[in-house]
Amino acid sequence: MLSKSRGKVALISVHGDPAVDIGQEEAGGQNVYVRQVGEALARQGWQVDMFTRRSSVEQAEIVEHSNNCRTIRLTAGPQKFVARQKIFSYLPEFVKAFLDFQHQQETIYPIIHTNYWLSAWVGMKIKKLQAVRHLHTYHSLGAVKYRSINTIPLIAKTRLRVEKECLETADMIVATSPQEREHMRTLVSSKGNIMVIPCGTNIECFGSIDREAGRAKIGVQPEDKLVMYAGRFDERKGIETLVRAIAKDEVKRHENLKLMIVGGSTPGKKDGLEQERIASLVRELGIEHLTKFTGRVQHEDLAAYYAAADICVVPSHYEPFGLVAIEAMASRTPVVASDVGGLKFSVANEVTGLLVPPQDETAFAGAIDAILSNPEWRAQLGTNARERVEAKFSWDGVASQLDDQYVSELGKLWQELGLFNPAV
Ligand code: UDP
Repeated sequence: MLSKSRGKVALISVHGDPAVDIGQEEAGGQNVYVRQVGEALARQGWQVDMFTRRSSVEQAEIVEHSNNCRTIRLTAGPQKFVARQKIFSYLPEFVKAFLDFQHQQETIYPIIHTNYWLSAWVGMKIKKLQAVRHLHTYHSLGAVKYRSINTIPLIAKTRLRVEKECLETADMIVATSPQEREHMRTLVSSKGNIMVIPCGTNIECFGSIDREAGRAKIGVQPEDKLVMYAGRFDERKGIETLVRAIAKDEVKRHENLKLMIVGGSTPGKKDGLEQERIASLVRELGIEHLTKFTGRVQHEDLAAYYAAADICVVPSHYEPFGLVAIEAMASRTPVVASDVGGLKFSVANEVTGLLVPPQDETAFAGAIDAILSNPEWRAQLGTNARERVEAKFSWDGVASQLDDQYVSELGKLWQELGLFNPAV
């Protein structure tokens, strides 16, 4: 750890609480990103406060994660779960609560890094009220998302307007892959500053357990051929494509084939309904006997699942980054993924796994069959995958790139204010 304090940073994630359990509706990659980036930045010497909306009265207002890293839950709207499409009207309250918090603490955050378009709006408002450098990570772009879904929500117009304004006015946009930057440029605006810093993964946790130990831990036999999915139950995740691929003869013919679908859902909610839909498809396709729904698994415990699997499949229709792919790769497990978004960047085709067209169950089946049929190649893809993650996608590596950028943003802020830069 660095001895000198770098300064204060506010990570704002209005709808993705970095302190909650991951793997359920509304809790996925963004929560992991904010939490891991926050903790890694704190190790670099920053004092990190992560601001989110309090969504239950039972939740603590402040959660300390590690030295210099905490989650602060602000009250904005009802203290209960509100779907992200409905949060926009509570944002002015969120801004006020943030300013009140600063006031109570007698502090000002000179760096604000917002996550997802709702927080972008908050960041832009704060920037109008105080001297601050504003960085933003989109996590998902409306302009891309709305191309891959049938029903466009009412909030779409507002979201597209906010995303454009943010790209044009934030001090720096952090894209998580070159593909995301390309989408911003072609679909959102040609103005504004963009840099690419990928998402990361915990390379100590994922990869810490070997295949045999992983299998023993989760009850998978040495002779089993295990294909897995991990993530939320959401139609855009393409679980349907995976189960249809598994049901094809070229995959089903493999002896001792097993499919694990890892992730939680709440009965009656959107993700619960999607899980039910997938479960009935599994029954219809006659693959119940080889399919297991594990429910939500604690993030760290997923290491054993990835290590145990022969292949991890990421069949998303659209994926801005896709943390699951690099978690599996860090665990030496090849990935078969849709050739879209950030997956094009994280998965090196035929080197660390295979990329196939989204929603194409025949192509997925072919790719799964090819890897299951050749265990030596499988092992080689896994070794290459680990090497790629170590070189490009560790959280500490990601945080040190953010650290460089924050230091440079602070320098610009002092210059703008005509002040002496205490960091020099
Ligand atoms: N995850 C988890 N437990 C589960 C299922 C998923 O911890 O039971 C985590 C997974 O490890 C990953 C995140 O949820 O870090 C999903 O992130 P990803 O970027 O793949 O998808 P998103 O949810 O952002 O669409």
